[in-house]
Amino acid sequence: MLVLGIESSCDETSVAIVENGHKIISELTHSQIATHQVYGGVVPEIAAREHVLHIDHLIWSCLKNANLNWSDINRIAVVNGPGLVSSLLVGINAAKTLSWALNIELVSINHLKAHICANNLNKNPKDFLQESFICLLASGGHTQILQINNYQDIKILGQTIDDSAGEAFDKVARMLNLPYPGGPHIETLAKTGNKTIFKLPRAKVGEFDFSFSGLKTAVLRLIEKTGLENLNKADLAASFQEAVCHELADKLIKASLKNNCFDIVIAGGVSANQRLRELISEKANELNIGQKINIKAPFLNYCTDNGAMVAAAGYLCPESFGLDFGVYSRAK
Ligand code: AMP
Ligand code: MG
Repeated sequence: MLVLGIESSCDETSVAIVENGHKIISELTHSQIATHQVYGGVVPEIAAREHVLHIDHLIWSCLKNANLNWSDINRIAVVNGPGLVSSLLVGINAAKTLSWALNIELVSINHLKAHICANNLNKNPKDFLQESFICLLASGGHTQILQINNYQDIKILGQTIDDSAGEAFDKVARMLNLPYPGGPHIETLAKTGNKTIFKLPRAKVGEFDFSFSGLKTAVLRLIEKTGLENLNKADLAASFQEAVCHELADKLIKASLKNNCFDIVIAGGVSANQRLRELISEKANELNIGQKINIKAPFLNYCTDNGAMVAAAGYLCPESFGLDFGVYSRAK
């Protein structure tokens, strides 16, 4: 089955054609990073206008590059939420128009589930996602630990009560005068820093919940007190990254242990972080479940927003088109 996936929920206009939920036939992305970089974050009105400028030619070029005709496409999958409403509307209108004009099935995709399905992209069948599993979804907009029994039965075991992990990376990067989006820049800088120099606070919140606003403020106060010019930026980046990744890895592994579920999946932009990946294995070893757990992670270029993950979800967990703002039930 060939699915055309369309992603326009934030600052990437991305389109892909994927076969049977894993094999990428063709993909094209227009990233707006350069446009938003001067503002230090995404400006929704500008993002929506850029989507309008690029969506048509990306879709047509994607089909052309794949040497396919519209009659070859079995399904169109588009992200319906969560995301910036004005940006989502651009992708949704393009998808609805194509579906209506060409009589191709249209399905709705939850952006968060699409991030999870990115785990199947370019993988071998033996490594495909298998329900059920515990998932850490850490992106620019969300940070959650989920228990996924199947794609219709998802429970939130914990989530951030304020900022997402990605947002914390982006805001701290801005304080360090690093470009947007900050995650990859902090990770690179952290490689040359000493992660034990700065003792940063860990929030006391629910068992599997997160809070990163206190950590962000602690970094800000440190910079205000000492002056950025007097601080070793690499040490600060390493200490900050360590604080965020410890928190994520620690709670993920504890959730796995508590729920007796040793299949772990990570997803979202922050899951590209190598220190996070390392720490997840380290924590599992510390709790003596290193041998038991099976960790799946997307290939690095499919961690952040992309159309291929939407097409993968269009194969694996399509939903009928309606209002879906990505709400699932919280575990009791
Ligand atoms: P997404 O919302 O899934 O597209 O992911 C974007 C977010 O992931 C942004 O907040 C980035 O700063 C963050 N991010 C991307 N790569 C990394 C990385 N290597 N380490 C930490 N955060 C990252
Ligand atoms: Mg995303």
